[in-house]
Amino acid sequence: MKKGVPVSPGVAVALAHCVGEVLTHHEPYTLDSAGTSGELGRLERALAAVARELDDTITRVSKQIGEEEAAIFRAHRQLLRDPSLHSKVMERIREHRVDAASALQQTLQEYVNLFRRFEDSYFHDRLTDLRDVIGRVVARLAQDSTQQPPRFKEPVILVASEVLPSAAAMIDKRWVAGILTEAGAATGHAAILARALGIPAVSGLRGLLREVKDGDVIAIDGREGHVYLNPGPEVEAAYRKLQREYAAEYGRLFENRDVEAISPDGTRVELLANVSGPADARMATAAGAVGVGLYRTEYLFLTHPTVPDEEDQLAAYRDVIEATPSKRVTIRTLDLGGDKQVPYLGVRREANPFMGFRSIRLSSAHPEFFQAQLRAILRAGLVGEVSVMFPMISLLEEVHRIKKVVQRTRLALERAGVAHGSKLPLGIMIEVPGAALCIDELLDEVDFVSIGSNDLVQYLMAADRDNPQVAHLCEPFNPALLRLLSHVIRSCNRRGKPVTLCGEMAGWPRCFLPLFGMGLRRLSMSPAAVPTIKEIIRRTPLAVAEQIANKVLEMKTTGEIRGYLTKRIQDIWPNVTLMDMRR
Ligand code: PEP
Ligand code: MG
Repeated sequence: MKKGVPVSPGVAVALAHCVGEVLTHHEPYTLDSAGTSGELGRLERALAAVARELDDTITRVSKQIGEEEAAIFRAHRQLLRDPSLHSKVMERIREHRVDAASALQQTLQEYVNLFRRFEDSYFHDRLTDLRDVIGRVVARLAQDSTQQPPRFKEPVILVASEVLPSAAAMIDKRWVAGILTEAGAATGHAAILARALGIPAVSGLRGLLREVKDGDVIAIDGREGHVYLNPGPEVEAAYRKLQREYAAEYGRLFENRDVEAISPDGTRVELLANVSGPADARMATAAGAVGVGLYRTEYLFLTHPTVPDEEDQLAAYRDVIEATPSKRVTIRTLDLGGDKQVPYLGVRREANPFMGFRSIRLSSAHPEFFQAQLRAILRAGLVGEVSVMFPMISLLEEVHRIKKVVQRTRLALERAGVAHGSKLPLGIMIEVPGAALCIDELLDEVDFVSIGSNDLVQYLMAADRDNPQVAHLCEPFNPALLRLLSHVIRSCNRRGKPVTLCGEMAGWPRCFLPLFGMGLRRLSMSPAAVPTIKEIIRRTPLAVAEQIANKVLEMKTTGEIRGYLTKRIQDIWPNVTLMDMRR
């Protein structure tokens, strides 16, 4: 048995499918001799489609952002024409009779192996470009359904070194029973997506790809981070039983979707969902969320074949609003950078990308781009109860500047006679400890705040949220984090400003107890977590939660807090162990 970092709850037993360098998951298949010419044709079509896509991107980026950034895509366009890349891929199809997507992925792997020997950043950047270009062609091939290979016969467990957020966003739940990765931790963005899809996942399994091969049986428990490779019949039977019990309890909780989230003493709590597109919003509605508390718009940018313009964005925002019956949607402006990279915003390789040019810092540096997003959000305000939220605010001056940009954007829409929502509430995310400490000053300027505890804890503890070796520092049971959260929640309540918590801990049963006791009445979480948290609210009197909050705020260590909350939650709901991640 192996122990990794549990990142998405659930239990599964299925066959392994190793994807190595993840682009999109794909089942390789062998061609017969007649098949090779068809496959070469499919490759040609995909290359031509990507060339058109890149031309379109070059035009848009040079217009909206600048020539320097457009040059990145010119380089991609050139790579796409590279004769040695073509001949390597075609040779694999012709000589080895592999399908086009596999031929591309194998060729990429060849370059990875070659370039790995050089420490030089030039080679690193070339590899990034190559991954990007090949990723586009593979995605195109997947869309060409004329000769689609058969999908997996049954759902598989994907085994990868790392799942990039853009690849995770394309995972199809029907074919993926579980995800295992060598890198990554609980609050990384790929983990967040796995949780949103309700797929069990375990990360931080170093060296796993050297041990697993396609077709091995894997049993995975995403609550505990346990993984068995080719388990014996007894373990396999036990895991299959656990899988059934988990599914049955989950189904029972789902039946409460229309029941209110209200504690036994009558205190109401609003359960909202974190989404990255309309499919998540539909899932959130099915799970009983009353609206969207965090719409991560960057996934549109990570998965869109070209740079989404104002109209593309408006259409996407409308889709999410339409998929939310209450039409209450908090749209967060782009949170790119860090582990979410797109090539066109000119982010160069940074030593510390999470501390660098990311999020609102990046948006603010591209005013036209930023305003196009604001225009789309303001226009979407016509069809729903939309709020706009800015991520990673560090300084009061940033808020002053952003408010001016919003004001200018509004005026421009008015002058041009473009219809838009007139009074969209403006909010900020509290993710930087400096902002949390100065919350009172910030509250004077905004209509609401939302606490991004995933980032807040990583910055508070100086521990990368995506690095399994420091995952113990990013725990939500950390005394410093809890004290800071209490400070922010109490300040907001004192001033009557709505406060939500939208980090991953919002969906963790044990964390709900102190948060509720500190005065939090709005939580936004992975859609899959809504039914579980609702069950806990319905079992927890406010006075009990207040006593728990006071107690943990006096505790000194993470272990003490975790142990205490584990005991208290089990008193409140003994069956919670079936649903919870028992970290
Ligand atoms: C957070 O940081 O807690 C948050 C909700 O934002 P994201 O996870 O998208 O960085
Ligand atoms: Mg964040």
